[in-house]
Amino acid sequence: MAKGFIDLAGELQEIKQQNLYRSRRVISTPQGVEITVDGQAVINFSSNDYLGLANHPDVIASFKRATDKFGVGSGSAHLICGHSASHHALEEELAEFTGRDRVLLFSTGYMANLGVISALLGRGDQVFQDRLNHASLLDAGLLSGARFKRYFHNDLLDLNKKIKPIEGRTLIVTDGVFSMDGDVAPLTELSALAKEKNAWLMVDDAHGLGVLGESGAGVLQKNRLTQQDVPILMGTLGKGFGTFGAFVAGSDVLIETLIQKARSYVFTTALPAAVAEATRTSLKLVIEESWRREKLRSLAKRFRLGAGQLGLSLMSSDSAIQPILIGESQRAVEISEALLSKGFLVTAIRPPTVPKGGARLRVTFSANHQPQHVDQLLDALDNISV
Ligand SMILES: *Cc1c(COP(=O)(O)O)cnc(C)c1O
Repeated sequence: MAKGFIDLAGELQEIKQQNLYRSRRVISTPQGVEITVDGQAVINFSSNDYLGLANHPDVIASFKRATDKFGVGSGSAHLICGHSASHHALEEELAEFTGRDRVLLFSTGYMANLGVISALLGRGDQVFQDRLNHASLLDAGLLSGARFKRYFHNDLLDLNKKIKPIEGRTLIVTDGVFSMDGDVAPLTELSALAKEKNAWLMVDDAHGLGVLGESGAGVLQKNRLTQQDVPILMGTLGKGFGTFGAFVAGSDVLIETLIQKARSYVFTTALPAAVAEATRTSLKLVIEESWRREKLRSLAKRFRLGAGQLGLSLMSSDSAIQPILIGESQRAVEISEALLSKGFLVTAIRPPTVPKGGARLRVTFSANHQPQHVDQLLDALDNISV
């Protein structure tokens, strides 16, 4: 073996010793509440398909109709010849949905975050990020070349202290709903601080879209924050919407800038048009079927009540993400494996995804769960004596 690969084997061994080794499970059914994992039937509490739309018959039918009409591949980037009428219509519908002037589709949320932050910032600018922000935001901040500072989680005093006026641009970035904690950023206060400091505010609402707000338009709708309050909104389509892709919403000037300068937009193939058509149908379901949001709230409430009675360590969340804090990685993995042997898929989340000593079981709900699924999970947690 070449020397470099011997080093890699050593590194892998170290990751194993720290109980941080990751491996993939093979799913042989559609995404949903009941899935088959490595040949075993389980109840799924790990998916981000919060509204249960990933395998919805109407979404599937739209996808199939669109592949009959448009085929599979989009053929090129949006700026060459890949931008179809389906993409265009979805952008317009998402702009109306989010109450923003315009929307730009990206192929993934990771790429949207890289594209936005590195298009807006460079050397001489500064970016402030909540320390629990999603990895794609942190990576984007580093890639941009701007001065990069993290502030303590949801800590406005710390952020206020750290922001110094500079010649260049200042951007504050936060998750709307934090992906591994389920809590919400203090957006009204962040927006006021951003205005005071003459900074832009960007919110990544991957986990709030579809789930929060009257018509599912997310954490900004819930907090009644307009485009003036939060000029840059990023949303993903692979979670609550149940499809794939992402978008950025904001002013005409913002979107035009991204079309010119966001490298992860310019230099990549457009989503298949069929994904855009499937998402247009998802969007209708998101808006019209508010029972899905209500169901999520009642499932989370039922779980929190029961988990509290078992003395489990919950986090302050009223979203579809309800983590149980464990602490040690090894213990989190053991509990996750014990749950799996009882037929429940609950992933252990370990560093570096969460801070050291902060390993947890990330329980997520779907609108397709039934109350008895929650009760069964609570029974299993009780039996394992977490
Ligand atoms: C999942 C996620 C992303 C990345 O979105 P993808 O479409 O999966 O690439 C970005 N930000 C947050 C907060 C996320 O949870």
